[in-house]
Amino acid sequence: MRRQYSLFNGKRYVLNKNTGVCHDLDNEDKNCQIDEIKTEHLYCSDYLYSDIKKRTSYKEKCDYCMNSDK
Ligand SMILES: [Zn+2]
Repeated sequence: MRRQYSLFNGKRYVLNKNTGVCHDLDNEDKNCQIDEIKTEHLYCSDYLYSDIKKRTSYKEKCDYCMNSDK
């Protein structure tokens, strides 16, 4: 579920810069624990997932919300 408040501002993709895991809020799973991510570790993007992948802190897709089987 997308969040309209800061820092999310309705954006779809969220990167946890601490773990390097990227999440898709349109596919969010309770295991993503988006609300547990500290604000200083958040990077949000309107753009394609490819924008997130360019971030140096990016490591992997979340298994729960970005699993290609979904
Ligand atoms: Zn996720």
